[in-house]
Amino acid sequence: MKRINSIFFALAVLLLITSSVMAQKSKESLTEANIRAVMNEAYEKFKNAPGGANASYIPFLADVDPKLYGIAVCTADGKLYEVGDTKYEFGIESISKVFVLALAMQDHGSKAIEDSIGVNATGMPFNSVLAVELEPARAVNPLVNAGAMATNSFVKAPNSAAKWQKIDDIFAKFAGRRLQVIDKLYQSESATNQHNKAIAWLLYSYGRFYDNVDESVDLYTKGCSYGSSAKDLAVMAGTLANAGRNPITKEEVINPDFCPKILANMITEGLYDSTGDWVYATGLPGKSGVGGGIIAVVPGKLAIAVFAPPLDKAGNSVKGQLAVKYMVEKLGLNLLDGRK
Ligand code: GLU
Repeated sequence: MKRINSIFFALAVLLLITSSVMAQKSKESLTEANIRAVMNEAYEKFKNAPGGANASYIPFLADVDPKLYGIAVCTADGKLYEVGDTKYEFGIESISKVFVLALAMQDHGSKAIEDSIGVNATGMPFNSVLAVELEPARAVNPLVNAGAMATNSFVKAPNSAAKWQKIDDIFAKFAGRRLQVIDKLYQSESATNQHNKAIAWLLYSYGRFYDNVDESVDLYTKGCSYGSSAKDLAVMAGTLANAGRNPITKEEVINPDFCPKILANMITEGLYDSTGDWVYATGLPGKSGVGGGIIAVVPGKLAIAVFAPPLDKAGNSVKGQLAVKYMVEKLGLNLLDGRK
């Protein structure tokens, strides 16, 4: 009996050692082969995942093929990995907010963003009027509609055309190529953005808007209507992972001091009112858009971008979240995990 017990004990110890070695191993496994293998697994595993629906409050988005699905990874040292529909250009939507924030921060510094827009989470839907009413900061933060429109109004330039030029230039630097606005999407959004206009005027009434309201809402709407592919988004997010320098073109796009601030905004508000669930699962700054895109940034290492149009109730891509969560777990990418 004693012998059996000690055999069991030895086996248990062996099991513990093996599993901890395996856990260790998964933390060290950021090799090219592993990134590719795990990305391909995530693609196959969730290709037919059910659930969610295309955004329908913007008519153009309702008509995008819900089966489209692509994953792209861009590492901080400039390697790209892609599987599925990674070249398809879809509406960047809310993900644009991150890069307009980068521009406004570049213009005014991070303290001004904190003071003039706000940086706290709302815990409310992305287009909440109530959040504007309840929060002392009003615009709340640059990644919800209210704050994003205020951020567009905050971009420093003499007029709206000059602002658009600056937005277009910085997006081109982030992506490593000039993005094009999807005209039909822009028309579709412009014809249905009364709710956003109401929020913008409300902010104006509270003195939290910094330029012509209609023109700033138009800039915001146009920025949301950029066509971007999963590959573009991986490079744009990869620039944030690489401390502000585009990993492919090697150009410095923003001051590296601002990257942690932008990523902090993403970690507190990137996935709207389900950001808490997201961070709980991934430990990563992320941002989603109602066009079906989602980005996740692992500072110093890599960025993941997924495109799959069906969204959950909060407005986040269902497959996108599943794929990123899977990759984070398999590749040991959770920033809050202290095991090395
Ligand atoms: N253009 C969309 C809106 O203003 C973006 C929303 C989103 O992606 O969260 O409603």
